[in-house]
Amino acid sequence: MRKNIAVGNWKMNLSFDDAKALVSELVKVDVPDNTDVILGVPYPYLAQMNEMVSGASKVSIAAQNCHEKEKGAYTGEVSTGMLSSIGINTVILGHSERREYQKESAELLAEKVNTALAAGFRVIFCCGESLTTRESGQHFDYVADQIKDSLFDLDASAWKQIVLAYEPIWAIGTGVTASPEQAQEMHAHIRKQLAEKYNQDLANDTSILYGGSVKPANAEQLFSKEDIDGGLVGGASLKAADFSQIIKSF
Ligand code: PEP
Repeated sequence: MRKNIAVGNWKMNLSFDDAKALVSELVKVDVPDNTDVILGVPYPYLAQMNEMVSGASKVSIAAQNCHEKEKGAYTGEVSTGMLSSIGINTVILGHSERREYQKESAELLAEKVNTALAAGFRVIFCCGESLTTRESGQHFDYVADQIKDSLFDLDASAWKQIVLAYEPIWAIGTGVTASPEQAQEMHAHIRKQLAEKYNQDLANDTSILYGGSVKPANAEQLFSKEDIDGGLVGGASLKAADFSQIIKSF
């Protein structure tokens, strides 16, 4: 059975003290059954936050990026080996902000995914269309292509380590949320791609999260949809009360 997952994506926010205060609240949350909570934390805080969640079995820490190479002369970069060595085994890849600002291409993301999987990581892979793409009616093909271009060379067995996050760009950080029906429709479409390329069991076992202005007021409605297995949450994951309520919305 696939898992429900609430991912908090802190992005480039929070001081170290604020981060510690937030995690000390989140480890007290009574996380529902069959649910994982994952916090996407800035690099400098990873080790400390990982230590802080060590007693909370359903809460873990993810990096927000990793490099595609294992090591070498890449000033400022962080490898999967470095992350593993401090106990981090989950990474967010393909976020639209990195696709846009760091110009991460489908090919580069495929390389990063392969490197992360080879190092035994769980990968939270983001996809999602812009408003222009949605308005042109191309959104279903666009999102399917993002997944095909970076993930469809993987063997079926690798998918045990993949979580997908559908994040329409027009809903990220804008306060505009896709309606539960819009999100469900895209999630069902994504699951269909997995069933067609691989098989129905693999499609059924893959968690597909929704991201884009998830908040306490809309989480329950979104998560109640058949193909929505949780959320990737930015802004609302920075406040203990809001994120706790989102976690309890399953
Ligand atoms: C995100 O961080 O990917 C995100 C969806 O942000 P927000 O919840 O703030 O829209």
